[in-house]
Amino acid sequence: MTQNDVRHVIIIGGGPAGYTAALYAARANLSPLVIEGFNWGGQLMITSDVENYPGYTDGVMGPEMMADFRRQAERFGAEFVTDDVTKVDFSERPHRVYVGDDEYRSETVIVATGASARQLGLPSEQRLQGRGVSYCATCDAAFFPGKHVVVVGGGDSAMEEATFLTRFGREAPRRRHGRDVGA
Ligand SMILES: Cc1cc2nc3c(=O)[nH]c(=O)nc-3n(C[C@H](O)[C@H](O)[C@H](O)COP(=O)(O)OP(=O)(O)OC[C@H]3O[C@@H](n4cnc5c(N)ncnc54)[C@H](O)[C@@H]3O)c2cc1C
Repeated sequence: MTQNDVRHVIIIGGGPAGYTAALYAARANLSPLVIEGFNWGGQLMITSDVENYPGYTDGVMGPEMMADFRRQAERFGAEFVTDDVTKVDFSERPHRVYVGDDEYRSETVIVATGASARQLGLPSEQRLQGRGVSYCATCDAAFFPGKHVVVVGGGDSAMEEATFLTRFGREAPRRRHGRDVGA
C-alpha cells in the first residue's frame, strides 16, 4: 500500500496493546499500519524480568518480549512507522492521522497510546529502576518477599498497590506530613 491509499485500520501505539491489535487485524487480512511511536515497545522496554505473561515459562526480559510481539504482527503483514503521531482528525471518514507533514487515511483507527509512570525525578530513581524501584505492584511484588516496601503516593492507585503489597512485603513505618504515625 502507498501512503495515499485509504487503510482499513491504523493502530496508534507500539506497546503490548498496539501489537496485539496489529496481530489480530493482520490475521483478519486488514493490512494494518501501526504508527508505533518513537518509543516503540512501550513501557515494557524499561522492564527487566516479566514473569506474568503466559507462554514465557522461565520469564522474559521486557524488550525481548516486545520484539517478539512486534515480529509476530509483522509476520502476518502488519506495517510499521516508527514515529509519533502529531495530529488526528476523526471528524469525518476516512479518518486522518498525521506524522508531521505526512498524512495517513483510514476507515478505522485504534488508539493504543498507553501510559507512562509519573516519576519522582530523583537521580537515584533511574539507577535503581528494576533493582528495587518499581512502578507496578502486581508485576513486581513477588520479587520482594519479606522486604520493607514503601509506596509513594496517597491516591486510589497508591492504596490499591499498597493493599496488594500487604501479601508480600513487611510492615514499614507509616509517616504522615513527615511525622511517624505508627509502626
Ligand atoms: C517499570 C515497569 C515494569 C512493568 N512490569 C510489568 C510486568 O512485569 N508485567 C506486566 O504485566 N506489566 C508490567 N508493567 C505494566 C505494562 O508495561 C503496561 O501495562 C503495558 O505496557 C501497557 O501496554 P499498552 O500497550 O497499553 O501501553 P504502553 O506500553 O504504554 O505503550 C504505548 C505505546 O504508544 C506509543 N505512543 C504514545 N503516544 C504516541 C503517539 N502520539 N504516536 C504514536 N505512538 C505513541 C508509545 O511510544 C508506546 O509505544 C510494567 C510497567 C513499568 C513502567
